[in-house]
Amino acid sequence: MIRKLIRKVLDLPAHMGRGRVRPRVIPLAQHGVRREQLSHAALKVTTRLQEEGYTAYVVGGAVRDLLLGVSPKDFDIATNATPEQVHHLFRRSRIIGRRFRIVHVMVGPETIEVTTFRGGSIDTMNESGRIMADNNYGSQEEDAHRRDFTVNALFYNPGDESIVDYHHGVRDLNARRLVMIGQPSRRYNEDPVRMLRAVRLAAKLGFIIDEETRKPIRSHAHLLKKEPAARLFDEMLKLLMSGEAYACLLKLRDEGLSRGVFPLLDAVLGEGEGDAFLQLGLASTDQRIRADKPVSVGFLLATLLWRQVDRHWQTRIADGERAVPALAGAIADVETEQDNDFAIPRRFGVTMREIWTLQARFDSRSGQRPYRFMEQPRFRAAFDFLALRSEAGEVPPSLVQWWDDFQRADPDEREALIERARDAGGDEGPVKKRRRRRPAGRRRPPAPEDPV
Ligand code: ATP
Ligand code: MG
Repeated sequence: MIRKLIRKVLDLPAHMGRGRVRPRVIPLAQHGVRREQLSHAALKVTTRLQEEGYTAYVVGGAVRDLLLGVSPKDFDIATNATPEQVHHLFRRSRIIGRRFRIVHVMVGPETIEVTTFRGGSIDTMNESGRIMADNNYGSQEEDAHRRDFTVNALFYNPGDESIVDYHHGVRDLNARRLVMIGQPSRRYNEDPVRMLRAVRLAAKLGFIIDEETRKPIRSHAHLLKKEPAARLFDEMLKLLMSGEAYACLLKLRDEGLSRGVFPLLDAVLGEGEGDAFLQLGLASTDQRIRADKPVSVGFLLATLLWRQVDRHWQTRIADGERAVPALAGAIADVETEQDNDFAIPRRFGVTMREIWTLQARFDSRSGQRPYRFMEQPRFRAAFDFLALRSEAGEVPPSLVQWWDDFQRADPDEREALIERARDAGGDEGPVKKRRRRRPAGRRRPPAPEDPV
């Protein structure tokens, strides 16, 4: 009775506190994941640790992905060796991290993350149940228990090619469902980012979030506001780079996670599902990611917030501003609206703004301007962005075609193209954004939202 109460209070699994419990050990014949499917580095590091007498497993997302027939992005290893012991074994390794001390082991071009089994976090929580420090080592069983979802708590032993499963992870994986280990609301209190992980992993893997795991999300969403902006931004980036960005965004909104968490997403998701530009942009990012092509974060962010910028741009133009200063003003408007600068790190923000700013320059097709524009380092990104706008019906395809032709043309053809643009309507070109000069002091009310 007392033990049951302690277990309940501490959110320990039914078996803990009664000594070790035997996990399910699933042999190769039942799961089919061969050690050759690991990366060279993952196999090398686990083998070396095991040769030295330590236990070492591939753990987490990599095991889950291998079972699903997906090739893992990276391999994490869990071991009973301490960070110092691991570091000592591998010449090319370094201990990193303050909150968690982990070891990065470099093998060829690969970096493997090696983590020492972590133990219970009960005594390191603050009064609201949030994990404060988390550096005490523990057993493999405890390590499994502090992971987030059952499918993320599987250990693969390359030695005998078995999978060690403490929490019915394989069963849940086969049922395609995400189940939080332990009591979901408590786990969200400990670390609110787990809610975002649930949404991202469900969308990425095509899993359902188990009802018990899903239910508390809405009422715990506010906890995310207290998370450091940098961690939230990282998590949002993972979400956007998951290959299922649009599905993730819709799911965030469905689970009540969009409002007030990411200032950026508030703006984006307010637009609703009918936003053709956003859908096209994210679909093209998703496609690139699934095809293993590089994706520019700045471009992606520019896509996310373009609707806001464009709306302000059009309003300013309708109020008589010229296209170029109107666009600069629109960008500033959006930044003010998102008071903390979207919490976007500078290195991405610069590219984003540049892609936006350059949109005003496609209309200028006379004299030396197209030549100078093309020499801009971000011309190509800006042009791809223009093409996306055109696909969304925002810019006439003829303008995209003109710039496409111009890039490929030889010097004579370029001159001819410039002539043609002039004949077709001068500098302005066949663009919908026409200047309308109004006498000062007679400002119109803001233009209605741009139809998409
Ligand atoms: P991805 O495919 O995106 O890498 P992942 O599950 O591998 O997904 P990582 O961030 O690489 O995600 O984390 C590796 C493992 O660490 C997870 O599988 C999980 O076991 C554990 N983990 C990560 N974040 C948390 C968290 N916030 N709470 C508990 N466990 C976590
Ligand atoms: Mg991972």
